[in-house]
Amino acid sequence: MDPTAPRLAIVGGGQLARMSAAPATALGIHLRVLATAPDESAAQAIPDVVLGRHDDIDALLRVTDGCQVVTFDHEHVPPQHLEQLEAAGVAVRPGPSALFHAQDKVHMRQALSDLGAPCPRWRVAESLADVEGLAEETGWPVVLKTSRGGYDGRGVWVVADADEADAVLAQPLGAGARWLAEERIDFVQELSAQVARSPSGQAVAYPVVRTVQRDGICAEVVAPAPGLAAERAAAAQELALRLAGSLGVTGMLAVELFDDGDSLFVNELAMRPHNSGHWTIEGARTSQFENHLRAVLDLPLGDPRPVAPYAVMVNILGGDVGDLHGAYRHVLARDPGLKVHLYGKEVRPGRKVGHVTVVGDDLDDLLARGRHAADYFSGAIDE
Ligand code: ADP
Repeated sequence: MDPTAPRLAIVGGGQLARMSAAPATALGIHLRVLATAPDESAAQAIPDVVLGRHDDIDALLRVTDGCQVVTFDHEHVPPQHLEQLEAAGVAVRPGPSALFHAQDKVHMRQALSDLGAPCPRWRVAESLADVEGLAEETGWPVVLKTSRGGYDGRGVWVVADADEADAVLAQPLGAGARWLAEERIDFVQELSAQVARSPSGQAVAYPVVRTVQRDGICAEVVAPAPGLAAERAAAAQELALRLAGSLGVTGMLAVELFDDGDSLFVNELAMRPHNSGHWTIEGARTSQFENHLRAVLDLPLGDPRPVAPYAVMVNILGGDVGDLHGAYRHVLARDPGLKVHLYGKEVRPGRKVGHVTVVGDDLDDLLARGRHAADYFSGAIDE
């Protein structure tokens, strides 16, 4: 083992940590991952595994022991644990004061509003009257969200009237969570603007992409967002760079945006590599995973520019077929230009189990190829 290699701990054993293994290997960075089980996605790809939970301070101290820096596969580590890690001398990146804003949607909306970032109109809903008050300003429907614990659209409801709102508010909330009521934006497309920022303050911006969600889950991503005017794309990049600087983010930041045809509104922030940036593995000169590693280790950042006019990424969602590898012969033979990433996860209906990426000039062709492969993997088509 190279005793001079930087040592980086990653909390969380999902696919984001797993996809960090390849650039870490190339750069000679030693990764250690905190996973809940030896067969979790990242634990299959990173040999140095500590088993434990992200909310257990002993497990967090064990995974960071001997590591200079700790980063994350998700945003759920309790803030007091992050502070304890800092007190133990580990550089926490992104740090607790930045992550605070990605851990709770009410904190995030408040910080974004304070910074003058365009948001849907919103308020904390302590009762039905608060939701009705917002609806008087914005009209129905209104979006209700749990401030914490939601992901992939779980924890988000669009309510058409007060009765529906009442039924949603009657559900129990998780620890520390509140209800957030938001204006429903009638968007023409959803966008994501990703930047990497290092503790020294260097930052790079990736092309702004279009994301398509189905049932609250990201289904596909097109880079760059087709038809987005250059000045609006630049405005989104500038906003993401400004937010990364103002919030003190280190590592990757994804700013999810709604485009209603006239204006952009921030939906939410993710302070880690993000599904909207998987295309960068093949589609950009430096992937989001490599730039996240470089950024959290305070190394100079890599070139974020695309390598082709378009990249299309389509998620593989679990369907009826349990054996994803059974699809390889057909998918790989049919399209030698297609790149496949499987996450080593057991197939469950609707679960993100992998993705495919194609890059090139002809967007319609790329979309058709990417969708075909993802549908074949999930069993939606068989030829
Ligand atoms: P999660 O954190 O679970 O991903 P989000 O807050 O990103 O949840 O919401 C999931 C999806 O719900 C969004 O991608 C968007 O399609 C829809 N959505 C969320 N908030 C709004 C809103 N204010 N207006 C319109 N659609 C919304």
